[in-house]
Amino acid sequence: MLKVTLLAGGVGGAKMAEGFDGLEGVELSVIGNIADDAEFHGLWVSPDIDTLTYSLANRIDRAQGWGVADESHRALSVLNELGDDTWMTLGDRDFGLHIYRTNALRQGQSRSEIAAHVARVFGVTSQIILPTDDVVQTRVRVSSGWLTFQEYFVREQCKPEVMALEFEGIGAARPTPAALEAINSADLIVIAPSNPLVSIDPILNIPGIRAAIGAAKARKIAVSPLIDGKTIKGPAAGMMASLGLRADAYGIAGHYQGLIDTLVIDHADSALSNQINALNLAAICEHTLMQTRADKIALAQAIIGGLP
Ligand code: GDP
Repeated sequence: MLKVTLLAGGVGGAKMAEGFDGLEGVELSVIGNIADDAEFHGLWVSPDIDTLTYSLANRIDRAQGWGVADESHRALSVLNELGDDTWMTLGDRDFGLHIYRTNALRQGQSRSEIAAHVARVFGVTSQIILPTDDVVQTRVRVSSGWLTFQEYFVREQCKPEVMALEFEGIGAARPTPAALEAINSADLIVIAPSNPLVSIDPILNIPGIRAAIGAAKARKIAVSPLIDGKTIKGPAAGMMASLGLRADAYGIAGHYQGLIDTLVIDHADSALSNQINALNLAAICEHTLMQTRADKIALAQAIIGGLP
């Protein structure tokens, strides 16, 4: 068995997770992002972890890439009628999970125990691991002030320019033993094609995680979330540019330089290979757009096949 540990955000991360999850001979652990978590209507919502779980459980709404398939929104319409803000679209089935999670938290279970239990009951065989059981929350500074991540991402639809990012609580957060173990025991550590600044950095910056990856014996590979300088979905390219990074696969390479040994880039970016090599990183060109299940598995297979 090849032990693969994947660091993943939401939509891009879940696609890569599905690729490895579909391979024979791979034991997959996914370390997800909890810094997008937020409370809505008194319930604790964990969007990236739920996207991973719903994807690996094949319950995801495939057209959207998030949320539950065959969903209805009756609970949300009642909340709206009663005057609550309902810009965060939470479906009825989804609400069931948030009610369960919030209740289990009140009864004293840890967030990672809850995530593992939900994954198991939903039939996920790969491990879904939280990087910390402490609360870490991404804040986004825009011209009008600081927003929570979901206010920026969902309510404001990523439109305001991002002037700064902060991960509240990260300095005091402790890594989970499961995350450290998944990193230490991995044969291969993969950083998914997720937003490096708001999906991957809040995992890496939890004290102890980056050092554990540095000390791990595994091969370390990232997949660029930018193809031809563009994001497939979401604000990564604009965010990188406003924060002074080059918004292309080279910028991704620079961001992960020193942490990984190989960057997988799209064929469309093959002209950047030499520049990436100059950062002391190998560059592998692959078809990195994952639209179908076959695309996801082929990319995961290519990553493993590219190992010496
Ligand atoms: P979020 O938390 O739901 O925004 O999801 P992630 O951070 O995991 O993923 C967002 C990133 O995934 C964006 O920067 C996208 O460009 C990237 N992404 C989404 N689908 C694909 C894909 O099929 N291939 C590649 N290479 N990147 C993708």
